[in-house]
Amino acid sequence: MSEDHSRLSTRRKFLGVSGAALAAAAMGQQVRSDDHGQPNEEQPGENNTALDAENPSSVWSPETDNGTVEPFKYSFALAHKRIENGGWTRQVTERELPISKTMAGVEMRLVSGGVRELHWHTSAEWAYMIYGNARITAVDTAGRSFVNDVTKGDLWLFPGGIPHSIQGLGPDGCKFLLVFNDGSFNEFETFLLTDWFKHTPKEVLAKNFGVPESTFDNVPKRELFIFATDLPRPLAEEQKAAAEGTSAIDGEYVFKASTMAPTKVRAGGEVRIVDKKAFPATDIAAAIVRLTPGGLRELHWHPHADEWQYYVSGKGRMTVFQAGGKARTFDFQGGDVGYIKMSRPHYIENTGIEDLLFLEVFPTGTYQDISAGEWLAHTPARLVDQHLKTGEEFVEKINKKEAILTPV
Ligand code: MN
Ligand code: MN
Repeated sequence: MSEDHSRLSTRRKFLGVSGAALAAAAMGQQVRSDDHGQPNEEQPGENNTALDAENPSSVWSPETDNGTVEPFKYSFALAHKRIENGGWTRQVTERELPISKTMAGVEMRLVSGGVRELHWHTSAEWAYMIYGNARITAVDTAGRSFVNDVTKGDLWLFPGGIPHSIQGLGPDGCKFLLVFNDGSFNEFETFLLTDWFKHTPKEVLAKNFGVPESTFDNVPKRELFIFATDLPRPLAEEQKAAAEGTSAIDGEYVFKASTMAPTKVRAGGEVRIVDKKAFPATDIAAAIVRLTPGGLRELHWHPHADEWQYYVSGKGRMTVFQAGGKARTFDFQGGDVGYIKMSRPHYIENTGIEDLLFLEVFPTGTYQDISAGEWLAHTPARLVDQHLKTGEEFVEKINKKEAILTPV
C-alpha cells in the first residue's frame, strides 16, 4: 500500500543516518516495534507501543508531512466518562480538542429503559444512531409534540432551545453520537427539568400549575441527567396522548437515514449526503461515508465551514495541508474524532482490511466541497501543465464530474 511505501521511505531516510540500525538492516534483521514497550533500534528507550501501533503515521510520518500543525485528532477513549445507572456519556469539545471551535460531540450509551432527562440547550443537536433503538421526544414553540422511534443509522435534529429527551428501548438500549454547532458546548451543563424545578420556589411552581405545593414534594434533590426507569408505552399511544390539543409535528425532527439510498456509489465506496435538501429541519449538514479497503475520499476542501469528523468503524488515515509548507497525517479508527478548519484540503484513505465508516459534519444547513479533480479538470490544461509538469494529457483525462470517492 502507498502508506507503507511512504513510511518505509521515511524509515530508510532515518536509517541512512543511523550507523547501528543501518548495519542491522544490512544484516537483514527486521527492525520494528515490539509488543512490550521495550527499546528497539529505531526508537531506543521505552515506547508506548500500543499507541504507536494505532498511529503508524505519527511513528514514521509520510515524507510529505512537515512542520507544526495544530492537532486535529482526539479520541473518545481519552475523554472523561460520566457513568450513571441508566447509561454513560463522554464528550469531545474545544476543551479536549482546541482546534474544534465551531462544533463539539458527545457519545452516549443508554440501557434499555435508560432516559437522558428532559432538557434543552442553546445549540442545535444533530444525532447519529450507532447501535440499538431509542424513543425520542420534543415539543416545539407552537406546543406541538414530537414522539418517534429511531434505530441504527438514523438521524435526528433538535433545534437550539427546543426541549427533548432520549430513552433506550429494547432489547439492549442504544448508543449514539451527538454533534452540536458550538465548540464550547458542555453536555454536563444543559437546562434540565429536575435541576430547574429544584431551583424554583415550591410556591411558585404551585401557583404556575394551579396545584397544591405538596405536588412537588418528591421532585429529586439532585438532577437525574441519565437514569434507569421503565420502558415507555407503545409509540402510537404516546404520540396520540402527547398531541392532544395542539397536534403533532409531522416527523420534522427525525431523518431515517437507515433507509436512505446512497447519494453516490463508486468502486471506492458510497456516500449519503444529508443536508437541508433531504432533511429540511437541519441546520447541521452531514456526509455519511463508507470506504471499501483501499478506497479514497478524494482530495478536497470545504469553502463554507469547518468539518467535524467521527469515525464509526474501520481504520483510515487523513492528511491535512495547512498551507505555509505545513502538513500532518493522523491515523483514525472507530471512536476517534477529526477536525478540519474551513478550506484546508484533505483526503481520507481506508488503510484497514474492513470498510471504513465515518461522518463528516458541518455547522451549516448545506453541504459544499471543491475537489482537486474538479478544480484541475475545469482549468485550462496548458495552465495546469505549466504548474505541475504532468503533461496536458493528465488534465484531459481527469473525470469531468465530481468523484467524491475513488476509484470511481
Ligand atoms: Mn440534548
Ligand atoms: Mn471533508
